Formats: sequence, C-alpha cells, structure tokens
Amino acid sequence: MLFGKKQEITNTETTVYARAKINLTLDVTGKREDGYHTVKMVMQSVALHDEVRVTVTHGEKKPRGIVVRCNLPYLPVDERNLAYRAAELFYESTGILLETCEIHIEKRIPVAAGLAGGSADAAAVLRALASLHAAGLTDEELCAMGLKLGADVPFCLRGGTMLAEGIGEELSALPDMPHCWVVLCKPPFAVSTKEVYQAIDAVDIRQRPDTAGMLKALDRGDFAGVCRRLSNVMELVTAAKRRQIGEIKEFLAENGANGTLMSGSGPTVYGLFSDEGRAKTAAKMLGRRFADTFLTETV
Ligand code: ATP
Repeated sequence: MLFGKKQEITNTETTVYARAKINLTLDVTGKREDGYHTVKMVMQSVALHDEVRVTVTHGEKKPRGIVVRCNLPYLPVDERNLAYRAAELFYESTGILLETCEIHIEKRIPVAAGLAGGSADAAAVLRALASLHAAGLTDEELCAMGLKLGADVPFCLRGGTMLAEGIGEELSALPDMPHCWVVLCKPPFAVSTKEVYQAIDAVDIRQRPDTAGMLKALDRGDFAGVCRRLSNVMELVTAAKRRQIGEIKEFLAENGANGTLMSGSGPTVYGLFSDEGRAKTAAKMLGRRFADTFLTETV
C-alpha cells in the first residue's frame, strides 16, 4: 500500500537589530514639485535598537501570509506598520512565493520621536528576508526597495555616519564620527513629521547648519568641532511650540554634554558626551523626569 508523502514543514529565522538614528545636522534646501522637501543632513546611527525577529515557514497546509506582532499594544500590526509593508514589498518585488512570514518587533526606540524607528524596522525586515530567502539582492537594490517605503529607509539599511541629500535617499558615506556617549530624551508628546515639514515653509531660516564645516570636522575626527556644529532647522518649528525642547537641551549642557540638538523633526533631544560617567549621571537625573530617557552610544 502506498501512502501520500507528508509535506515537510521547514522554518528559518533570523533576528536583526533595527538601530535608531540621530541627526548631527538637518537643513531643508528646497521643495520638489511633488511636494517633498529636499534636505541636506548628516545622520548617525546609535546603539539603541528595536529587535526584529523574522521567521519564514514553508510547507504549512494553510500558509498564513504576513503576521506582525509587537510588544507595544498600541502600534498597528497590519498594513499601517512599516515592517508589514516592507515584507509585502519584498515578496511583490522579488516574486518569491509568500507562504508564512512572521515578524516580531520588540520595540525600544520611542515612536514618532525623530529617531526613524519605523524606517529602521522596515530596513531590518528587508535585510532579514533578503538573507532568509538568499535573494541575492545588492545593497543598491535593497536601498531602491527601501526608498519606496520611506526616505529614511535607505540610511537605515546602511547605518554609520552618512551625508543624506535629495529627499534623504542620496547617501554618501562619511568617516565614522568619533565614538561618544549619547543621552536621548523624548519628552512626553509625539510630533508629526509631515506637519513639521509643512510648517518649516513659513519659517524665516536665518541661520543654516554649516554642513561643509561639519564634514571637515568629521574628516579630522574632531569631536569638539562636531559638537560645535550640531544644527537642525526643524528646531525652529518644534522648539517654538514646546518649551521642553529648550529645557532638556539646557539641562544636558549644564550636566556635561559637549553638544546638544533635537533629532529629525523631534521631539527627541540628545546630548553628546565624551565622558561616560557624566552621560550616565545626566541620563539618570533626566530619567526621573522623562521616562523615555536612554543612555546609548554611536555605532
Ligand atoms: P522619522 O524620523 O523617520 O519621521 P519617527 O521616529 O519620527 O520617524 P516613527 O517612530 O517611525 O517616527 O513613527 C512614525 C509613525 O509611523 C507613527 O505614528 C507610527 O504609528 C507609524 N509606524 C508604522 N510602523 C511603525 C513601526 N514599525 N515602528 C514605529 N512606528 C511605526
């Protein structure tokens, strides 16, 4: 008697760190016809990360498609989640057969904070799936895919210290910024990136970031020079509405930060410290007032 061959169920899994980014500079240089602002910014990845675990299962009788889970109950886990959309785009663009792809996001990066947390998760999913399916995609191909999900995704795919131009997708690698400790503090309100970019059009920007000077400081490995040139035009919008931005910067500076700035469209403010002990103490004190305070470092 012949028995039908039982289909074998196979599982492959990988975990990718989705790292947060901070802006060392952010300048808005214009607006394209399609409404996107063009920017010039120096971006830096930091060790603070979400953990993104991706499991691909083959051979189930009833494949389950894309399933996202997250430790934060208020984050959507359907198409509204960038990690979900990244998986969807990966399977659509590669033509690889989607059976079951489970994504678990252990979120540590504060949400809607100017730290590109969603973009980092999307980048992590693209990397994970490219590796699990041995898709043979080049970095350029992955970045082109990532750009369809968001302007910060290509940077998140690469990480390190980069100059980003265009709408954020034209990346040039820079010398690694001198290692330092970073205290990140997100005051308890969220900021809509879209609204801040809309508001910047009405602002008279008198002092722009010295991007050329920042690039030279990075070339020299000059930490003090980097700290002197931290500058973000978006502070003009967000700090004008919320006094806590200025207060946190002041607190960090008074407690040993070598430089301070708001990241992206905010509201997260950071301080750079060459001294680990001072960074630890500042983070501890600030953490008593703002729960979303983190001690991390450049990577
Ligand atoms: P950016 O600096 O790129 O604008 P951000 O740090 O300001 O990013 P995110 O944390 O990426 O903001 O979140 C922005 C919005 O995206 C939130 O309102 C959130 O609901 C939505 N979102 C979708 N997917 C995710 C995800 N995986 N992680 C965080 N937010 C997500």
